[in-house]
Amino acid sequence: MLAGYGEVDFVKGAPRMPSFQPQFAVTIAPVRVRFGDAALSVIADEVTRLACHRALVLTTPAQADLAVSFAQALGDRAAGVFTDARMHTPTDVTERALAHAIAIGADCFVAVGGGSTTGLGKALALRTDLPQIVVPTTYAGSEATAILGQTEAGRKTTITDPRVQPEVIIYDPALVATLPVALTVASGLNAMAHAAEALYARDRNPLSSALAVQGLQAMVDGLPKVAANPADLTARAQTLYGAWLCGTVLGQVGMALHHKLAHVLGGTFDLPHAETHAILLPHTIGFNARNAAAELAPLAGMLMAEPGPGLHAFARSLGAPMALRDLGLAEADLDRAADIAVQNPYWNPTPLIRNGIRSLLQAAWAGDAPT
Ligand code: NAD
Repeated sequence: MLAGYGEVDFVKGAPRMPSFQPQFAVTIAPVRVRFGDAALSVIADEVTRLACHRALVLTTPAQADLAVSFAQALGDRAAGVFTDARMHTPTDVTERALAHAIAIGADCFVAVGGGSTTGLGKALALRTDLPQIVVPTTYAGSEATAILGQTEAGRKTTITDPRVQPEVIIYDPALVATLPVALTVASGLNAMAHAAEALYARDRNPLSSALAVQGLQAMVDGLPKVAANPADLTARAQTLYGAWLCGTVLGQVGMALHHKLAHVLGGTFDLPHAETHAILLPHTIGFNARNAAAELAPLAGMLMAEPGPGLHAFARSLGAPMALRDLGLAEADLDRAADIAVQNPYWNPTPLIRNGIRSLLQAAWAGDAPT
């Protein structure tokens, strides 16, 4: 029996349902989700369903061929393709895409790709109020939120706005099956981070907690299978389902230390998004488990270990990146990162003492097990 997890049955590993809350508030966005179809075969119908005729297809340079396939599938409902989406949604890229959208008379956006592509679609929707269809090809979960992070002059800011919420999501497991194993694992852990923080969110509700548990379970079960066989479409579907649930709770409740640190490291030190989340996760959740043991008990049950060490062992077993230094972060930058992380106070289950954050970052930088 582990301290603080008295009711978890580690032998069966059964996740315990989070405690019911007799009072809560929840906002549920009206999103149409189409799961499991071949996206190329249904995209034209979905554009028609929105009463749109001139879709602009968006993606990153690496996925340009895929965008062309979607434009072909759309036929005369495609107005054009923009293939220059970048990580952290730089506003200069958005302005270029916006000029293109206006020039071709686009009346909706079809974003095909990971969080970077989704981010561009959201930034365009914010500026035009046109509808978006997102076809996710990673597990980032951005498609399920009304949150947009944008970068201007090296500074990343985040807003939440209903115009940013995509109207339609098409989840096609075959499109995620091309994601390389290393990015698959990192992106899957990125999704788990949303659900883990949702379990102890101050504004959580019974629905967000239930979705978070389901999302985590889908990832804990499915990620080892996709890491072993990336072409396993059943496991891809299971993990994509998990990513949807994890993304949905990210959009429903407030995040805490984990997302704050990932934001600081991504925005200030330009570290890659999914990998940074993957490395931080065991450390941030371990840090918060001290004060949120009951809330994190379902996760402990799935991992059959305390959350921090359990996530560390899980990530290692998947071959995930384990050390921030391997992403190119200098040890000398850890002091600055810790300073920024505690600059603007925000709610977190464990009090945010600067030295505690600095020690956490040191362990994540070196790739040590969470203490
Ligand atoms: P990404 O979209 O940048 O993709 C990483 C790379 O993988 C890109 O080159 C991409 O083209 C390629 N790729 C994507 N899917 C592929 C596939 N199936 N096969 C082969 N290659 C593929 O990475 P990401 O981690 O999905 O997204 C990161 C971005 O998303 C960040 O900017 C982050 O801030 C944002 N994000 C936002 C939210 C939100 O709610 N606002 C949530 C999560 C992430």
